[in-house]
Amino acid sequence: MISYSTFRIAAQNGTITTTDSTRQVVSEIEKQKHLNAFLTVCESEALAQAATSDKHFATGSPRLLEGMVIALKDNISTKGIRTTCASKMLENFVPVYNATVVDRMNAHGGIIVGKTNLDEFAMGSSNENSAFGAVEHPLGDNLVPGGSSGGSTVAVAAGLVHVALGSDTGGSVRQPAALCGVVGFKPTYGRISRYGLVAFASSLDQIGILASDVSTTARFFDAISGIDERDSTTAELPATQSLAMIEQPLLRSFTVAVLPDSELAGCDADVLKVYYSRLEILRQNGATIIPAEIPGSTAWIPTYYILATAEASSNLARFDGVRYGFRATVGDDDEDAMIVRSRTQGFGAEVKRRIMLGTYVLSSGYYDAYYRKAQKARRLVLNGYNDVFTKADILFLPTTPTPAFKRGEKTADPVAMYLSDYFTVSANLAGIPAISIPAGTSSEGLPIGMQLQAKSFDDERLLYFAHHFYQLFN
Ligand code: GLN
Repeated sequence: MISYSTFRIAAQNGTITTTDSTRQVVSEIEKQKHLNAFLTVCESEALAQAATSDKHFATGSPRLLEGMVIALKDNISTKGIRTTCASKMLENFVPVYNATVVDRMNAHGGIIVGKTNLDEFAMGSSNENSAFGAVEHPLGDNLVPGGSSGGSTVAVAAGLVHVALGSDTGGSVRQPAALCGVVGFKPTYGRISRYGLVAFASSLDQIGILASDVSTTARFFDAISGIDERDSTTAELPATQSLAMIEQPLLRSFTVAVLPDSELAGCDADVLKVYYSRLEILRQNGATIIPAEIPGSTAWIPTYYILATAEASSNLARFDGVRYGFRATVGDDDEDAMIVRSRTQGFGAEVKRRIMLGTYVLSSGYYDAYYRKAQKARRLVLNGYNDVFTKADILFLPTTPTPAFKRGEKTADPVAMYLSDYFTVSANLAGIPAISIPAGTSSEGLPIGMQLQAKSFDDERLLYFAHHFYQLFN
């Protein structure tokens, strides 16, 4: 598929129409059905939007996202279009309202072509936890695409859409982006409205952007960011202006912080090779490299999994078979049995594991030992980052310890699966912006991503550095 910027110029010159490009996308999605990236394709809605885009191009008034073809992770609410969270619980759930991001992208001329597969309720790192089957890595070979935004990531990596939205609670946009060789961006907590995103762990959840380059990411971010009166956690800031910023030349000198080498001990040799070679390129291009110490990195994963499961156990209490979603049939009219059976049959194994873990860490006997301690550890992570960013523009680190792994490789060992988020969860704990960019390949030709993190609300500058680093690396 041609890049959005190439498409936009062609559409402005009248050599391509949005209707044709949308039709092509829909037929390509059909051809690539084996990837299992899409759960719903909305052809008629997309073609109706495309007709409007054609008019805007014809009259010389294209909006910011005019004619851009977009896929949405299926935990983002779309009015009149099924939103399943890849769960049997919501298999037939059709929302009555749009998420704010959906209204905003529509208002800017974006075209939603479908809803993408994910790990059930965004819980997972391999997209093997979907009630509707796993997503295939575009390179095949029984590899996982990462998760939980696996469908959205594959939709971009396979060239089916220009942009896809995912959600990132502990790395679910950046981790699959790294494994599939695309750009994955998680903004500062509160920079993109989460109204209409089905909640997993509310203090960590962010909607994030997947695209094949940083400039499309920046354009999209500018279109959907900014305060939303429907989400009280959004920051009181207008939409970003990152597209203009990224075009400025790279600063002559800038400071890049790196973790101590001991923190990278768990990384695959190929990941380390790419990491050190890219660091060398940064040094050659004017970066001052300084050490960063963020205390307690061995506690990042446990802290994340205590807090995320605690919040999930509360958020998912609403799925009770009464209000909406799946209801199990029961022989008698026992209400409690109906609720238990609906949750037992409606949720998959990983979701149930998390609800049980979360209920446990919040229980009165263990609250102090786990939940309260995790809150304190979270504060230390934030303090550590604050300290790093008084000295450095960027923290540079791998996105994942390994390239894409095989299907089934980690499903029997949840802790091994959880460790693939080793480098991503801390950004969510601290609420800071982070982006994964393609940076190289393994000896077997699998994509490897590197991550850039910046201080809260430095999203525009983060995209600016990412844009330039991407060009230096590729
Ligand atoms: N893989 C992590 C988890 O399973 C992150 C999920 C996410 O960011 N949604 O919780």
